[in-house]
Amino acid sequence: MNDIEISQAATEAPITEIAGKLDLSADQIEQYGAVKAKIKLPVTGDASTSKLILVTSINPTPAGEGKSTVTVGLGDALQRQGKKVAIALREPSLGPVMGIKGGATGGGYAQVIPMEDINLHFTGDMGALTEAHDTLSALIDNHIQQGNELNIDPRQVIWKRVIDINDRALRQTVIGLGGRTSGIPRQDGFDITVASELMAILCLSKDLADLKARINKIVIGYTYDKDPVTVADLKVGGAIALLLKDAIKPNLVQTIEHTPAIIHGGPFANIAHGCNSVIATKSALALANYVVTESGFGADLGGEKFMDIKTPVLGKTPDAVVIVATVRALKYNGGVDKNNLQEENLAALATGSENLKRHVTSMSRYGVPVIVAVNRFTSDTDAEIDQLLAYVKDELHVQAFDTTVWANGGGGALDLADAVVAAADEPSTFKPLYDSDDDLVTKMTKIVQNIYGGRDVELEPKAKRQLKTFQKQGWDKLPVCMAKTQYSLSDNAKALGAPTEFTIHVREFVPKLGAGFIVAMTGNVLTMPGLPKHPAALDMDIDADGKITGLF
Ligand code: ADP
Repeated sequence: MNDIEISQAATEAPITEIAGKLDLSADQIEQYGAVKAKIKLPVTGDASTSKLILVTSINPTPAGEGKSTVTVGLGDALQRQGKKVAIALREPSLGPVMGIKGGATGGGYAQVIPMEDINLHFTGDMGALTEAHDTLSALIDNHIQQGNELNIDPRQVIWKRVIDINDRALRQTVIGLGGRTSGIPRQDGFDITVASELMAILCLSKDLADLKARINKIVIGYTYDKDPVTVADLKVGGAIALLLKDAIKPNLVQTIEHTPAIIHGGPFANIAHGCNSVIATKSALALANYVVTESGFGADLGGEKFMDIKTPVLGKTPDAVVIVATVRALKYNGGVDKNNLQEENLAALATGSENLKRHVTSMSRYGVPVIVAVNRFTSDTDAEIDQLLAYVKDELHVQAFDTTVWANGGGGALDLADAVVAAADEPSTFKPLYDSDDDLVTKMTKIVQNIYGGRDVELEPKAKRQLKTFQKQGWDKLPVCMAKTQYSLSDNAKALGAPTEFTIHVREFVPKLGAGFIVAMTGNVLTMPGLPKHPAALDMDIDADGKITGLF
């Protein structure tokens, strides 16, 4: 059976029952039908002894390596062991659902359900974010049209529009055509919703008041005199915040094994900060004793951003890090063509394992226990699995487990769960990667050298010019959010495995003052993806009775 068939065959428990597992009563949730709910805010509870487990991975290959699958399976395994557990995931974006990568609900018998709903609109958060974002766009253009009291330079509006679909044709647009009554013409463009600063703000806000305060700090562009213009200047922070009044509440669903799963916020980790919301993680920590969460793509992207951007806001560092690896992905990183990944290839596995080593080293430097989970595919041979487990234990000196959650649900990760519980009990020795006082270039250099394994950072002319503006504005000591290809440790998507001695090229920066960081655009990474030649949408259908097929 494929993912959707397994999901459709599962029986859901009423959402009130799932809420009950977290000691939430029916009036502490807002039900969206029988099996979905939003959790009312604020969530209270004692989080002082709760353990936070972060799941991350090696560099992904085009197929996705099963990070969400292992996150869900590990949560289920902890529940099977009688722990009070909550899984905290990100919400899927329609871009990859319709495009290439698939959903974000796990797979096989380690899934959150109902997967169709979660992958398609869910409780409407993505729609609310898109509309809130584009409301701000409309208000900016209306301000310029109606006399432009703030003296906004239409050539320097940096607040683009968004849509939650991969639509390459919208990357560069011209708006305001059609004469006097149709706006002031200017060049604009679209990002995917998950790259919106509003998404980052939703995910980093502590509460509604913080959300509004952060929205007011957004820099939408510059005046003709090159001064920044903020949402507060436009006096529309309240209107934008109110459009997010429901989106700010975390969503509650369940796994196939009825483990509570809180799914909230969905920034990508290559072009945004890649972590689910602080509100959801905090709520999960207050409601459960063990929280299993994931960050996007590899440890170089989501892992680093979880440690350096999310944890300072969350006020809690992970108690253990699980790095997911697959034999297939390591062979791909070792040079095997994606069509030949089914065949045993111990030599390529050994070469590609250097990629895993880099991620184990980089996550270990934060001082948090690291454990490797090998997500087993049916095509993996025993010889391959044995070689990989031995390599991790003998060469990298960390624990490694063969996990089969895709086939067996929580039963496929019981050893991993035991090890995670033991590791999380060790006293925390967390060490941040950079000082908050370091300037932007120092922060980026530390990331490149310690996390990516590269040599240095080079700024292209535009980025150099921007740095001067940032110094003048006092923005040059903010945390940095690297926008980089997910496929390589470097900024060249084709440099697989464990490249060394490379330079990361920063094209330009995007100041995100509401989110509280500066995005550094490296290589040729794009904030609006395109669809592939055969988008996943071509295989999807719904029949007259509403039965969905082809959704992975
Ligand atoms: P990631 O979070 O790394 O992007 P997912 O957990 O979303 O990856 O999994 C991507 C796809 O791979 C899903 O369709 C899932 O069903 C499939 N998958 C994951 N693990 C396995 C496995 N062990 N065997 C077969 N398919 C798997």
